[in-house]
Amino acid sequence: MSKSPCNQRCVHCLGVFGTLTWDHIPPESWYPDTTPEMMEKWKVPCCYTCNQELSKIEKELLIKMGLCIAPDRTEAQGIADKALRSLKPELGKGERDKAHRAKARQKVFRHMMKFQDKIASGVLPNFGPYESSEEPIAVLIPAEYVERFSKKLVRGFTYIIDGEYIEEDYVIDVFFVQDEAANESVQLIDKHGITYNQGPGLIVKRAVAADDSKSAMWAISIWDKFKIYATVEKR
Ligand SMILES: [Zn+2]
Repeated sequence: MSKSPCNQRCVHCLGVFGTLTWDHIPPESWYPDTTPEMMEKWKVPCCYTCNQELSKIEKELLIKMGLCIAPDRTEAQGIADKALRSLKPELGKGERDKAHRAKARQKVFRHMMKFQDKIASGVLPNFGPYESSEEPIAVLIPAEYVERFSKKLVRGFTYIIDGEYIEEDYVIDVFFVQDEAANESVQLIDKHGITYNQGPGLIVKRAVAADDSKSAMWAISIWDKFKIYATVEKR
């Protein structure tokens, strides 16, 4: 890892700090095994507080989403396995790691429930329920985690592509819709924007407004499964 950035701003909270750390966009552990080895993994300057908060969110999301992913897909190879392994105390390195895994396991079990129609409206698009499962199980994911993580990506990608921060006078909105509902927006982004491929596991599309390069429409696909749509607009 390269030297810590100094006297810069955190991409996420916009604060200025004497010393910062690096935040991976997306998290390093989210890259599938099929990611080309030589591919540069994107990272941005981030303060320690944001880094800690985001790590916690990303860990929980990776485990819970990983459990809902077919293990053999190219775009997500190794992700389901990683999620399962992180819940196995017997694989822990040392007592502390074992206890960590046991705790994570209990937490996931607490957040699992039988899938019922009444929660259907809150299901993240592309994440089921699957026709093959006789008695589908749902795992609860905090909506604020999904939103915070998605905004992190938008801020991070903006910094990586333009070297720019999304300032306070801009607002980021994130949307989670079925692929069909997003079709029109994606076509628009394809027509006017640029696609950035980070291996098979991550595809980022962005189109910026003609009159304001900071306003943009985003379509982000992780594992060809977790689809994030976002807009950045002046307040
Ligand atoms: Zn920060």
